[in-house]
Amino acid sequence: MKIIVVGATAAGTTFAAKMRRNHKNAEIILLEKSDTMSLGACGLPFYVGGFFEDANAMIARTPEQFIDSGISARILHEALELDAGKKVLTIYDAENQQKYEENYDILVIASGARVLPAPFSVAKNITLHTLRRLDDGGALHHALRQKQHQQVTIIGAGFIGIELIEACLNLGHKVTLVDVTKKPLARTFDEEFQDLVSLELQNHNVTEIYGYCAESILEDSSVVLENGESIASDLVIWSGGITPATEWLASSGIHMERGVIQTNKDSLTSLPGVYAIGDCATVHHSILNKPFYSPLATVANKAGRALADHLAGISNGFTGMMGSASVKACDLELVRVGLTEEEAKQHGITYVSSFLEDRDHTGYYPGAQKIWIKLVYNLDGVILGAQIAGKRGAALRGSAMALAISKKMTVSELGFADIPYSPPFARTWDALNVAGNISKL
Ligand SMILES: Cc1cc2nc3c(=O)[nH]c(=O)nc-3n(C[C@H](O)[C@H](O)[C@H](O)COP(=O)(O)OP(=O)(O)OC[C@H]3O[C@@H](n4cnc5c(N)ncnc54)[C@H](O)[C@@H]3O)c2cc1C
Repeated sequence: MKIIVVGATAAGTTFAAKMRRNHKNAEIILLEKSDTMSLGACGLPFYVGGFFEDANAMIARTPEQFIDSGISARILHEALELDAGKKVLTIYDAENQQKYEENYDILVIASGARVLPAPFSVAKNITLHTLRRLDDGGALHHALRQKQHQQVTIIGAGFIGIELIEACLNLGHKVTLVDVTKKPLARTFDEEFQDLVSLELQNHNVTEIYGYCAESILEDSSVVLENGESIASDLVIWSGGITPATEWLASSGIHMERGVIQTNKDSLTSLPGVYAIGDCATVHHSILNKPFYSPLATVANKAGRALADHLAGISNGFTGMMGSASVKACDLELVRVGLTEEEAKQHGITYVSSFLEDRDHTGYYPGAQKIWIKLVYNLDGVILGAQIAGKRGAALRGSAMALAISKKMTVSELGFADIPYSPPFARTWDALNVAGNISKL
């Protein structure tokens, strides 16, 4: 069996490594158009912000390590075109500047995503920073160290924009955050949590400007908004989103929607023998029971491993994903698992929701912090989603909720769940128990 994998960051490398272990005799070719494999891009904001200094710490495996394991790992090799009828891939070898063809039995597309082009004009002399690849991280790391106390404008209040705020503040810079939406994290969390993030940013003296598009970046780095307001800046970062890197498949006939490759539960695309995983493709949603797009490392890794098992005929516990994600907004931990209230509405699900403000541990033990929990559940009390925020223990409580939701726990079962207690960590009735108990049907 000859397998070609296109893209070698999270999804492609996880698949290739597991497939190698599952199928000792398969020929596996791993193609990567850049010069880096196995980058843990999630570390980039923290590298940029000086939380660690060795960029190589974000690289899990080198091409040589893949080659040593019997995978034909090829950097600077870009897939240009797919002829699915003939099962042939056209590839460009940048080092030798030549095209060649490679046939396959199975093709795994893991070409990921790239930063959306900025929808505003940028003066020629200005570097608009983005953060996706290792060299983006290197450039931003360098730029943020050129001058102290810079005024940084971040356009885009999604996960990466929020993480970059902490990075900039950690280096002593001032930040203005701009987004066309009305609040931060507007596409991923419900409004109660957007407000908590906004408050946290205010407490860190971040200037927040919502509801306006950036229109241009001028020669002096100032950012001009559609309402004419001008934001003085030394450095501008664009973190307005991503788009699947699937243009190279345009003539292949593969079924895509807005560039996202559509797949079934087993990551099979509309083309025989062609699978797609990670940020370029849909994955099965275990609560909605349909494909959805969730460009996250957790998804890319799990879909990659699950596909390798599927192709080797090994049954495993993969039942799909459910939108789990966490992010740190300055000192505030935020986590979401399953459906938000907004998503439940969008999917026409009849739901009830509850919202709790509690403490992360017993009041007499020093350092107790507020914690906020929102549950979304159906009329039988089965929990469909949880969002949690707080300065201590919020993210890990999200992990507990991921297990609860994946096992279809009800709010009343959560109310009595045997959550461990000692004063530094919880209250006798942990905030999760209380969230279950206040959730009425
Ligand atoms: C700054 C940042 C922070 C993040 N933080 C988190 C986090 O905290 N938690 C989380 O879950 N996720 C996080 N993510 C998202 C996570 O990094 C991605 O979901 C993950 O990298 C997706 O992996 P992938 O392999 O599907 O795609 P990609 O990472 O996009 O990799 C695709 C690879 O394919 C290559 N490629 C593309 N086209 C071709 C072609 N035609 N031929 C050959 N090679 C090609 C690309 O060069 C690239 O190396 C973060 C992402 C960024 C950028």
